[in-house]
Amino acid sequence: MTFKTIIEPFKIHSVAPIRMTTPQERERLIEQAGYNLFSLRSDDVLIDLLTDSGTGAMSRNQWAAIQHGDESYAGSPSWEIFRNAVQNLFPFKHVIPTHQGRAAEKILFTAIGGSGKVIANNTHFDTTRANIEYTGAEAVDLVIPEGLEPASRHPFKGNMDLIALEKFINTRGVENIPAVMITITNNSGGGQPVSLENIRAVSAICKKYGLPFFLDACRFAENAWFIREREVGQGDRDVVDIIREIASLADGMTMSAKKDPLGNIGGWLAMNDDELAVNCRNLLILTEGFPTYGGLAGRDLEALAVGLTEIVSHDYLKYRIESTAYLGNALAKAGISVVQPIGGHAVYIDARALLPHIPPLQYPGQALAVALYKVGGIRGCEIGTVMFGRKPDGSEEPSAMDLVRLAIPRRTYTQSHIDYVIEVCIEVAKNAAQLRGYRIAVEPAALRHFTSVFAPL
Ligand SMILES: *Cc1c(COP(=O)(O)O)cnc(C)c1O
Repeated sequence: MTFKTIIEPFKIHSVAPIRMTTPQERERLIEQAGYNLFSLRSDDVLIDLLTDSGTGAMSRNQWAAIQHGDESYAGSPSWEIFRNAVQNLFPFKHVIPTHQGRAAEKILFTAIGGSGKVIANNTHFDTTRANIEYTGAEAVDLVIPEGLEPASRHPFKGNMDLIALEKFINTRGVENIPAVMITITNNSGGGQPVSLENIRAVSAICKKYGLPFFLDACRFAENAWFIREREVGQGDRDVVDIIREIASLADGMTMSAKKDPLGNIGGWLAMNDDELAVNCRNLLILTEGFPTYGGLAGRDLEALAVGLTEIVSHDYLKYRIESTAYLGNALAKAGISVVQPIGGHAVYIDARALLPHIPPLQYPGQALAVALYKVGGIRGCEIGTVMFGRKPDGSEEPSAMDLVRLAIPRRTYTQSHIDYVIEVCIEVAKNAAQLRGYRIAVEPAALRHFTSVFAPL
């Protein structure tokens, strides 16, 4: 007998309160926040689906490991425990600890970027793109066409377009391409996985042209689970084995340990190239810290080492992927258009489809995100024209999609929290025709979604 309810494979060990608010209070709070969800106090949010980054619950073993942390400036045993845990999955020669993913990006692109250079990726995450462009280099997205169609059911919508990649290499010239990257899973493209076959092919193309191949591996375990579930011939493999094969195909990686490694903070950069490692370590010392702790405390390194052993549990990954699909499938069943198939860490509502009367330059994703907060106290995140619309030359264009991401923190919310989210989304969708767009009243120079002030139209 198998039961249809998939239970959370953990029990609650320590709790944090949720402060209840009314729609009237939230109306005032979001106005005070300039209609920017990033400007809200988290105490004023009921269900916080802004991000799955650093918001997960640590296990008792991770908290115990925190007590084991050794805070020596140099050569801490906590560093060795961390490095061994990373290399157990990703056996790159050099591991460089950073305080989070973007610090790894900043260091890597400072070392290899610069004007005239161009880096390809299936889809650059926002901080990745920003760190590349900050050096004067260019960031090009080459995801397969299905990856930009919210309703397409391709099982690996994060795949790189291989023909486009070869064309890119031939037109831009090998000498101008310091690295090719692939983001697993493809966060900005809907949390969609990349197939092992595609990663093998990208690796082969990079080898053919002598180009370094880097992973942005934030959700490597979720991606490996999708490979196990969906890819022909992979169903009997342990995810650890799949992860090691992925690592063996690449020359290095950037990593945010606030995602799959189950940390509240942390990241790393890894590579096989000795000379690049020397350059990166020198930059690390300048901005992060000594190479045996980077931007982290010894206790953080220990918590991450334990997280890396927990994230590859098949029971956990089955629960994780199926509970995300539970939310997505319920919305789809209610007629709300969501990116299909449902990704690993988040459900992406197609705001452009739900609010066809709001043009992209009036930010339908922002309008929907604000409505979910006002009606139900849910905090999601616009992934669309607000996030990507401002071009480096100062012009503004609609992004490929206007989505609202409901990201699910790891091991944090129960099924009844998610059932509430479903009810709120259905209520907002019922009144979608009444929602109006926004304009940006105050805009910062870069990464405008974090700090812009909006005004309703
Ligand atoms: C979160 C994330 C990053 C950046 O990591 P931070 O820890 O937030 O700095 C980079 N790439 C992807 C795909 C991410 O999801």
